[in-house]
Amino acid sequence: MKILVSFSGGKDSQACLIQAAKQYGTDKIEAVFCDTGWEHPDTYQHIKDVCCQLGVKITILKSKYDFISLAVHKKRFPSTNARFCTSELKMKPMIDYVLSFKESCIIIQGIRAGESTARAAMEEECMYFKSYFQPNKKGKTENYRSKDVKKWCSQYDASVLRPIFNWSAQQVIDCILDAGQKPNPLYYRGFSRVGCFPCIMCRKREVLQLMKDEPMKQRLLDAEHIMRKKTERGSTFFPPTYIPRYACTNRKYPTVEDVFRYVTDKNATLDAFEPEGGYACMSMFHGLCE
Ligand code: SF4
Repeated sequence: MKILVSFSGGKDSQACLIQAAKQYGTDKIEAVFCDTGWEHPDTYQHIKDVCCQLGVKITILKSKYDFISLAVHKKRFPSTNARFCTSELKMKPMIDYVLSFKESCIIIQGIRAGESTARAAMEEECMYFKSYFQPNKKGKTENYRSKDVKKWCSQYDASVLRPIFNWSAQQVIDCILDAGQKPNPLYYRGFSRVGCFPCIMCRKREVLQLMKDEPMKQRLLDAEHIMRKKTERGSTFFPPTYIPRYACTNRKYPTVEDVFRYVTDKNATLDAFEPEGGYACMSMFHGLCE
């Protein structure tokens, strides 16, 4: 039986990894990190450091695309309503990995009910491939490699465990500190989530923080330049309503430059309201987008 711990480099999955190491033994578990090619260099380092300190094997999964080449392929950046970044860069590589096993497995995810109403509605334990068998609210079932999934499920079992489901954020931090570790250094710089850098759902305050990191600031500017060069119509990273229209150079939708200008304006309104569904990535499959 394989025991996989989804590890994003965020605090919740780090606490899960520490707990799993204690409960099952470091040689019995494996940390799995889905690399989008769009994480912060400090997150990559943190992931290596945590696994090395614990003595846990790390498996890095990659899609044939990274965040930018996927956006070029799709001719647009992902958005809250078209979150193909999660499905292509995280969900599919993880499903491919699970299907490569000739044995059952447990997938441990660091999801906490306290994070959002949507997460609170999830279960503490469930079948990993549940959405292939039970239709969602729209009456649809998952279809990626569905024949392979059903065949695999006829022989093996994949269960999801969320051992810190009822933990508070403080319990998570205590667990990390008690193990002699530190959370991802990005938290200390004011980021509340440490997945893709930045995530398409990042807060404006986080953009302001990101601007202090010159290589990351340039990378984000370059991302839109690449899209303008490689696709006919280009695409903007932030959604049309991310900042008021008056602050957009074209009065329609913001470029990264517009957003940078807006968030540094002393009159800017930063994150007055949380978007519907919160800021977190909600795919049931990975628990990897913090
Ligand atoms: S962290 Fe954000 S940008 Fe990255 S895969 Fe998840 S939703 Fe997409």
